[in-house]
Amino acid sequence: VTSVRDVSKTFGARKALDGVSLEVAPGEMVALIGPSGSGKSTLLRSITGLQSIDPGKGAIDVFGLNVQKNGRLTGQARDARRRIGMIFQQFNLVGRLSLFSNVMLGALGRLPGWRGVLGLWPMEDRRRAMAALDRVGVSDYAAQRANTLSGGQQQRGAIARAIVQGAQAILADEPVASLDPVSARKVMELLVELNRRDGLGVIVTLHQVDYALRYCDRVVALKAGKVVYDGPSTELDTKTLIDIYGPEFEDAF
Ligand code: ATP
Ligand code: MG
Repeated sequence: VTSVRDVSKTFGARKALDGVSLEVAPGEMVALIGPSGSGKSTLLRSITGLQSIDPGKGAIDVFGLNVQKNGRLTGQARDARRRIGMIFQQFNLVGRLSLFSNVMLGALGRLPGWRGVLGLWPMEDRRRAMAALDRVGVSDYAAQRANTLSGGQQQRGAIARAIVQGAQAILADEPVASLDPVSARKVMELLVELNRRDGLGVIVTLHQVDYALRYCDRVVALKAGKVVYDGPSTELDTKTLIDIYGPEFEDAF
């Protein structure tokens, strides 16, 4: 899915990413963990081409498309982004549009315009959008404005949009951080299903280490912009977690 090679990102005097390398194969499900400020979101934004990396060294490829080269986003970044479904903690739906319209955005890749308002979207796309909403369990809310939905419903809508978009990978930045435990579990299970059944590559940042261990085979941990663990979740022991999060980790876990 993605190849990150020796990537750094500096904000002023702060190194948000410091020589990060990471290879994620198609069909993998990877949890990205690490303390607040360790660079998780910066890494995801760099992979999706929402943010340029430091020039001079480092490269990022997504599905074989070079997204970043010498500190610049390339012309291929847009193509790469269309193949990635993005999910964020602050539910990234267009609030004033219906859930259905938001999912249609995934199919059309743009705002619906007057054709959408008149219900003139292609029948095939409409059918796919409803099927996706049905699959994630929120088809009853299709007509409701996105900003009136609960967090869990919005997150499922974002997943439906990624499905309709035909995404081959999902990058999710703390998708369950604002959800109650039951909704959070549902969203994690949907991500697992897309990974297992549909073969989508998934990279998901999580604050909940127990979720990372339960749902992801592989864990990558960042600390101060560096990869400090990359391996099977089964081999991530308490000592390593204390190294990553500090001595208070044991009490918190
Ligand atoms: P959290 O778990 O709290 O979401 P994170 O691991 O996602 O944290 P990042 O958001 O990637 O961390 O931030 C990494 C570092 O880069 C932080 O020190 C942050 O202050 C800094 N940073 C990120 N974005 C910017 C920016 N646009 N301008 C300046 N500094 C930034
Ligand atoms: Mg973050």
